[in-house]
Amino acid sequence: MLHLEDKSLRLVNADLLQVHLPAKDTRVRTHTNSRSTIATPHFSEDISADDIFIAVKTTKKFHQSRLNLLLDTWISRNMQQTYIFTDGEDEELKKKTGSHAVNTNCSAAHSRQALSCKMAVEYDKFIESGKKWFCHVDDDNYVNVRTLVKHLSQYPHTQDLYIGKPSLDRPIEATERLGDNKMKPVNFWFATGGAGFCVSRGLALKMSPWASGGHFMNTAEKIRLPDDCTIGYIVESVLGVPLTRSNLFHSHLENLQQVSRSEIHKQITLSYGMFENKSNIINLKGAFSVEEDPSRFKSVHCLLYPDTPWCPPQVAF
Ligand code: UDP
Ligand code: MN
Repeated sequence: MLHLEDKSLRLVNADLLQVHLPAKDTRVRTHTNSRSTIATPHFSEDISADDIFIAVKTTKKFHQSRLNLLLDTWISRNMQQTYIFTDGEDEELKKKTGSHAVNTNCSAAHSRQALSCKMAVEYDKFIESGKKWFCHVDDDNYVNVRTLVKHLSQYPHTQDLYIGKPSLDRPIEATERLGDNKMKPVNFWFATGGAGFCVSRGLALKMSPWASGGHFMNTAEKIRLPDDCTIGYIVESVLGVPLTRSNLFHSHLENLQQVSRSEIHKQITLSYGMFENKSNIINLKGAFSVEEDPSRFKSVHCLLYPDTPWCPPQVAF
């Protein structure tokens, strides 16, 4: 997420974004630039949910109001691959998630430094996990892990892949602070953290000199941008690997009413929030009313997992 004055730059109409979807039946995709070439004709890797490391960023004040909803819905079906990165001790959370709740000891402030501190811990834990894919989401995201697995299996995890959706309609312009008070302008695309994004293990390993240990925070300071922009900077500007766009990832910076009702089950991430003082939620007539389920996540969950005990008996919605 981009929290600074840059917010005005954010683009809300997702249609204006240049979204490149995989060709429907060919699965041919080629990325070329000076430093990487990946061609994956008909590629398919047999991965399962266990090959994915999903990092959920949260903060203590949202454990009740946001995280519990995720624990009751999508995380309940995917506890093994989900890790929660927070900033305060919470016995209740520990009881529910055990070692999957990670206290980063980062500050609970919503500052650039505090947020990159969390991303740094997410990165290190992912590397340590040995899993094939690193996916980051916010605590206001619903993740459809089945579609996530299906999507990622189109790509080799050993190659350089950075997959997500930008929130701007153009590359972000930043200034890299070099030593000796020198500055260098840089332009790069980044996947917005609030929509969720994924990085292959192959690429994550290459990011290590700029991302592991304390390096991520230093890199973030060098360009003075938030955590998700810093990932984009390392991947695109430093390593020369282009962002692979997917419009199956959704943040509340776009108009969520535009997600087609009949395609909700095909999306990888969903979100909810406020935009211009109005609630921004997907349009789903589901198991629960908007009053009972303001985020719509309970209704989405019952659509995807109708056998959930608290879902009302299956009826045609
Ligand atoms: N967050 C955080 N520390 C804070 C405030 C927020 O880690 O002090 C996390 C929050 O839990 C969420 C993400 O940062 O995962 C984005 O926060 P929010 O949705 O409130 O803001 P947005 O950028 O989406 O407007
Ligand atoms: Mn948010």
